[in-house]
Amino acid sequence: MGAKGFLRSLTDRGQSSSPYAGLDLPDGVILPGNTKARLGVLEDFEKAGFGWLWASDAEGRLIYISESATQSTGREPTEILGRHLTELFETDPDNPDERSDRPFKFQLSARSRIIDLVVRFALGKSKHEAKQTWWSFSAQPILDNAGSFRGYRGIAKDITTEYERKLMDSRLAEYDSLTGLANRHRMSRRLDSLIPAYVAAKRSCAVMMLDLDRFKHVNDTLGHQAGDALLKQVADRLHHVVLDRGEIGRLGGDEFQIILPDTDDRGSLGELAEKIIQVLSQPYPIDGERATIGASVGIAIAPYDGIEREDLVHSADLALYVAKNSGRGQFRFYTHDLKDRAEERRILMEDLREALANDALELHYQPVVRVEDNMVVGFEALMRWEHEERGSVSPGLFIPIAEESNLIIQLGEWALHRACREAANMPRSLTVAVNVSALQFTDPRFPETVADAITQSGLEPERLELELTESVFMGDSESVDQTFKALKELGVRLALDDFGTGYSSLSYLRSAPFDKIKVDKSFVDTCTQKDLNSAKIIAAIIGLSNALNMDVVVEGVEAFDQLGVVKEMGARLIQGWIYSKALAIDAVRERMSSGEFRIEPDGPESYRSDRRTVFRRIGVIHEDHRYAGVLRDLSRTGARVEGLLGVPVGTQLVLDLGSGQLAVCTVIRARDAMIGVEFETPLVNDGAGGLCTRHRVSPYALAAAGMPLEALPAGNYPMQMIKSSDGGQSKPLFVEVKTPGV
Ligand code: C2E
Ligand code: CA
Ligand code: CA
Repeated sequence: MGAKGFLRSLTDRGQSSSPYAGLDLPDGVILPGNTKARLGVLEDFEKAGFGWLWASDAEGRLIYISESATQSTGREPTEILGRHLTELFETDPDNPDERSDRPFKFQLSARSRIIDLVVRFALGKSKHEAKQTWWSFSAQPILDNAGSFRGYRGIAKDITTEYERKLMDSRLAEYDSLTGLANRHRMSRRLDSLIPAYVAAKRSCAVMMLDLDRFKHVNDTLGHQAGDALLKQVADRLHHVVLDRGEIGRLGGDEFQIILPDTDDRGSLGELAEKIIQVLSQPYPIDGERATIGASVGIAIAPYDGIEREDLVHSADLALYVAKNSGRGQFRFYTHDLKDRAEERRILMEDLREALANDALELHYQPVVRVEDNMVVGFEALMRWEHEERGSVSPGLFIPIAEESNLIIQLGEWALHRACREAANMPRSLTVAVNVSALQFTDPRFPETVADAITQSGLEPERLELELTESVFMGDSESVDQTFKALKELGVRLALDDFGTGYSSLSYLRSAPFDKIKVDKSFVDTCTQKDLNSAKIIAAIIGLSNALNMDVVVEGVEAFDQLGVVKEMGARLIQGWIYSKALAIDAVRERMSSGEFRIEPDGPESYRSDRRTVFRRIGVIHEDHRYAGVLRDLSRTGARVEGLLGVPVGTQLVLDLGSGQLAVCTVIRARDAMIGVEFETPLVNDGAGGLCTRHRVSPYALAAAGMPLEALPAGNYPMQMIKSSDGGQSKPLFVEVKTPGV
């Protein structure tokens, strides 16, 4: 059947008596009965190329198609006609339009109306050319008088150009055009499909949220182009670290996400996070400038911390929030108590604001002592806060909270004024050091604040020392350099605090005008351990600062064995509890009233603190009994637990440390109700200065034991299947004793 035959078949029905007979119509009007003229119109339409006509038979074979359509395929009509529509055309599985999801085959067999269905011409443009052509199909099923299907009559057109553009757009919509990383949309879709599949397969999947510290500052000072260049370098560095372990996305701004399938080992996740933070914290060369930023990471793991995308991402977000607020450059695992902690920090911030307004803060002064003659040569001013209900709150806790907002700038200003005023009343041989937060340092008004504090107090500028940490080098180098210059012009002294804990200390020393270096306490903590390099590092730092003509203060010396080592390494100035803790201003005045301030070292013979002192209720599981114990000490390799009598050395136990953390261990010491245990697998760093187990009991295991997965509160699953000692099946072997005061 040719075109004419086909068209006639469309138009041949019911033409006997025209309803138009006798109407007064202009010449040339084509009435429905005028088949010949109508065919002419249709033929003109076909030639015009706006669209093509086609027809299929009841078996789905193509029995007619406009000639121009055949021409556009580059095929002979004989190659096309008579073949099944499903051989000729197929739907695109990647079609971004969800309506076209159902396969063409399915649509045809349903014999329903087809509207604007996108199909690919499956034979290709020609035998030699691979270019794809895309058609849009619409068709009406034709039924005979008996109601049986006779085939389709339809139209079609080539939409290749538009469709390919649409595909491109949707691809663009999945990737971030700046960095080429997956965008938020794609990452969400990935998680939506991954997590249920992983939960079904009882596999784990970790999500890392990553946020750049101080990126905004680079953007503001070096401009958006520099910011863009930096983000690209961040993406490159992330690729280098993550490799094929996971998929990296940029969620927007300076926020990144990494999906790490089949990962639940918190040891290796922590190491990866640390590596990411370290790599991203190296300076970035941008247009001849140097910019430095930092990064914080929050980690959540499915199924432990959530089995839905929203929950898991929210958990990772919360962990990130806490990481950022604990001083930046850190990582955190999600734990179920983070939520409470976030709320607690909010309250503490309000209280702190109030304390500052009500003048409820104080500065205490820790002496810096010259080893040679035990003379105090200066002080470090340390902030003290006596909270009405909580008692004294450590600056280690409240300073990072203040750093979450501009409050730190006001706090810092207050400390500067107070320290200068109080120092002005001390003997002129003494210096006073004030800590300056990085946020405060990058505030453009900072040099002015320092100048005000000096003039208002009348303190000689060279008696004021500002303690800065390496984090002040975050941001762009130019404004950092300017601030340094302004401060030097004022005549104040600058000290680099916590030296050795950052990443690229040496390059900073070369470029910034420091007068003093403070060796971080962490080196002193371990300087008596022969297997570590700490003592050598201390010696190297002292040698280096001598060469650069800088003073060195060694911080955190508590015991005589440490004092011995650091003296031997060449330390001349020491600040540590072995001489004195920080003293209230009245105590300082009293000690100085005698004219001379000399302190004899006093403290323990040897330093011992690898073990953290903790008092926490835990579960101790032995066979099918669960006992209540109190954790007294925890280190990577072991713990001390109080509360069980009669446990023989060599007994295998499992400590339930909470949140699904079970540690298999062996009793190596037992005395009264105190046992010492050694872990089978050492604990790992939890990013918060604490320790956690590498793995957690999988909720899958608990689900297998009858606890439905959904019913588990995120991150909180005590081993309830094991009965407490009073409800056990067999007789408990050990005696549980109550520990008072815990
Ligand atoms: P930092 O600047 O490193 O101060 C030294 C910290 O080490 C002080 O803790 C001090 O009490 C402690 N320390 C000194 N010697 C020893 C020792 O022998 N053993 C032990 N275990 N600790 C010793 P503190 O007062 O709790 O302050 C903690 C941190 O809070 C400070 O670390 C500093 O970063 C911050 N901070 C304190 N006051 C201010 C302030 O006015 N402004 C700012 N921005 N930060 C402050
Ligand atoms: Ca300090
Ligand atoms: Ca320090």
